[in-house]
Amino acid sequence: MALSGRVALVTGSTSGIGLGIARTLAASGAEIVLNGFGEHAEIERLRSEITAEFGVRVGFAAADIGKGEAVRAMIRDIEAAHGRLDILINNAGIQHVAPIEDFPVDRWDAILAINLSGAFHTIAAALPGMRARGWGRIVNVASAHGLVGSAHKAAYVAAKHGILGLTKVTALETANSGITANAICPGWVLTPLVERQLQDRAARHGTSVEAEKAEFVREKQPLEEFSTPEQIGALAAFLCSDAARTMTGTALPVDGGWTAR
Ligand code: NAD
Repeated sequence: MALSGRVALVTGSTSGIGLGIARTLAASGAEIVLNGFGEHAEIERLRSEITAEFGVRVGFAAADIGKGEAVRAMIRDIEAAHGRLDILINNAGIQHVAPIEDFPVDRWDAILAINLSGAFHTIAAALPGMRARGWGRIVNVASAHGLVGSAHKAAYVAAKHGILGLTKVTALETANSGITANAICPGWVLTPLVERQLQDRAARHGTSVEAEKAEFVREKQPLEEFSTPEQIGALAAFLCSDAARTMTGTALPVDGGWTAR
């Protein structure tokens, strides 16, 4: 169990990629702190399911990642409750699709706050403890949209490019301290975030979600297949392992060749 004795926070882990990463880290023996929105009963079900399956303690921290002070307080609370925070996965994210001229200002602000500033706050609050213990792993879930743009996703693309910059600076400031910071850049993963985009397209084109799926992937990825949350989780677990101790400041695509052309 490569990660036993480690405590991991995965932001936005009540569904999708974050949940996949949380489950993979739990399978490697890490104690998990879930975070994200959802019904209390559903979150309790996820906690007990992961504990039953992998035999690790699973906590929950409710902070809204768009609220800086709450995020910093959450890190302090986790350190108090779990004794440490070794692994920080910045995954919480939202999307909104609109041309720049029509892009609602409140959506721009929310996307920048959740997809970018949230990671600044978690990292700033988690680093002192990681430095004191001489070990830490920070993994930022960026996107292929951290490397290339797409029309109508101004806030998302800006935030995802920004988080790659934050990853590099974190890596430079933590070099030789036992801490690494890296980013994963997924292409399409079939999660609620993507399902909402598929539903909008189906409504716009008068088709079905099922009919839209293949075209959606084909538009961007030469390899016409969705990646899975478990595959993203496996890369996150690798980045947390000793084998990756000299990897830092990277942006790793898992994108079916999206950014190869
Ligand atoms: P999702 O909608 O399934 O999950 C998002 C998670 O974030 C949920 O747990 C939600 O409760 C949580 N969340 C949303 N706003 C929050 C807030 N303010 N505070 C705390 N938690 C919040 O989406 P997903 O597809 O799993 O996305 C996860 C990450 O992966 C995001 O950063 C997204 O940009 C990125 N990503 C997704 C894809 C994809 O194809 N699905 C591709 C590239 C990158």
